[in-house]
Amino acid sequence: MGIIADRIAAIKSTLPEGVELVAVSKFHPVESLRDAYDGGQRIFGESRAQELTAKAAALPGDIEWHFIGHLQTNKVRQVVPHVSLIHSVDSDRLLRAIDAEALREGRRVGVLLQVHVAREETKYGFTPAELIELARSGALDSLKGAEIKGVMGMASNTDDMERVAADFAEVKALFDTLHDGPMSGNPRFDTVSTGMSHDYPVAIANGSTMVRVGTSIFGEREY
Ligand SMILES: *Cc1c(COP(=O)(O)O)cnc(C)c1O
Repeated sequence: MGIIADRIAAIKSTLPEGVELVAVSKFHPVESLRDAYDGGQRIFGESRAQELTAKAAALPGDIEWHFIGHLQTNKVRQVVPHVSLIHSVDSDRLLRAIDAEALREGRRVGVLLQVHVAREETKYGFTPAELIELARSGALDSLKGAEIKGVMGMASNTDDMERVAADFAEVKALFDTLHDGPMSGNPRFDTVSTGMSHDYPVAIANGSTMVRVGTSIFGEREY
């Protein structure tokens, strides 16, 4: 096995049962994804529509593609045919666009609602209060193409791991509130997507069921 497959195996050996690994392959060449694929990895995360489409065309059809970056409404049509899960739904408008496009394509596309808990102003996402309000309004109940699978969050960009842990705990608490409340009728609402290369163990300790790991698998990205 190559180094990429070795790193994936090493990370996987540390993940508790029930925690899924998304290999974040953005900015890395198709050959690197092929190495991961040959090592058994099937879930890949990309953050740009064009790049995802090109890689999906070049790689085997049994890959599950996840879109993890900020998605512009005008890119929805390009992304929806290829993805099984969109982690980064940060507005009602985007959710409606995904729902309509998936319906038009005759498929169901999983979506995660992105929640903003980090201290930075720049991160995308609903506030916890906005998400609870949206779920209580019934607006998430009538979707036909999009399927709400859970929540996604990013921690503050800091070395203060207590702060990071608190951010992840806040995402998990919101998930629980929705799961036991407005989303309790949805048996597929089961995913908490938190944790990246530098903080995924902290995320797992705070309720993550899906980690998104790039650098620790593929190395540094060259933008
Ligand atoms: C790039 C990215 C990751 C992966 O980050 P690493 O630090 O390379 O593991 C995870 N989640 C999102 C949303 C990303 O954009």
